[in-house]
Amino acid sequence: MNDKFKKAAVIGWPIKQSKSPLIHGYWIDLYGINGSYEPIALSPDDFKSGIFELMTQGYQGCNVTIPHKEAALNIANSISERAKAIGAANTLVFKDGQIFADNTDGIGFINNLKQGAPNWNAKSGAALVLGAGGAARAIIYALLQEGAPKVIVANRTFEKAKQLAEFFGGKVTAISMNKIPDIFRNTQTLVNTTSLGMIGQPAFVVDLATLPKTALVTDIVYNPLITPMLKQAQGLGLNTVDGLGMLLHQAVPGFEAWFGVRPKVDVALRQIVLAG
Ligand code: NAP
Repeated sequence: MNDKFKKAAVIGWPIKQSKSPLIHGYWIDLYGINGSYEPIALSPDDFKSGIFELMTQGYQGCNVTIPHKEAALNIANSISERAKAIGAANTLVFKDGQIFADNTDGIGFINNLKQGAPNWNAKSGAALVLGAGGAARAIIYALLQEGAPKVIVANRTFEKAKQLAEFFGGKVTAISMNKIPDIFRNTQTLVNTTSLGMIGQPAFVVDLATLPKTALVTDIVYNPLITPMLKQAQGLGLNTVDGLGMLLHQAVPGFEAWFGVRPKVDVALRQIVLAG
């Protein structure tokens, strides 16, 4: 029996806001893991030495969050294809003195849709991604991996949408915000990755009425859980999935790598994270 105490952490600057300790703490208790998961604040100057210190102390690995997601790639010995494509890592696994860097945001997004809308299929038609920041990049990559035939990116700063389209090539095109209503008729998956709709921010104002009745609408903002965009979509009878599950599902691969159990995203976890 291998019952070595296993340690993992989340590293950020600041770190107080992170929900990751709630998620991993819930699974550690649920699966009776002999281990711990703690938040650790490391400034950018201390990031590299801090990570090596964790390795020395026998940690299995860690999550990394803002502002270390890009720096994490620079200290890794090997990098997953998806982390390379996304240009950032959120999960580090330590093994035999080596660091493996991964990015699980995109797969977290996809697995959230699969759980929340089991009939959803990326291959069924074009996806329209609103926003062109870090989350959009991970989501576009994941949608293409899932077989989306076409991904259209719309962003306030058109240049950033264009850069993403150029980076991903062929199936990804950029449009300006005022063109959004023109392509709704051919959209099967609508994703808001902008921060609009979040508490304290204005709503993303757009009329969803011309989306096909088969379209799925999802918002990765999860505070509030039902954003104005999701509320409008629900009013139109469209299928919707909220963004909380993306946060929960992105944590699954790290937990499995560090603690040896593939955890489930269940209703109790959602409630704990919402209340926390
Ligand atoms: P980011 O890199 O800063 O990108 C922000 C995006 O929002 C950009 O496209 C930006 O457009 C757009 N935006 C911001 N204010 C806007 C406004 N007033 N009008 C129109 N567009 C606006 O952030 P990110 O990391 O991609 O995260 C985006 C959102 O997703 C955040 O709310 C974050 O909390 C959430 N998120 C959720 C999860 C999850 O697990 N559910 C994971 C990651 C992120 P410009 O380029 O024009 O500035």
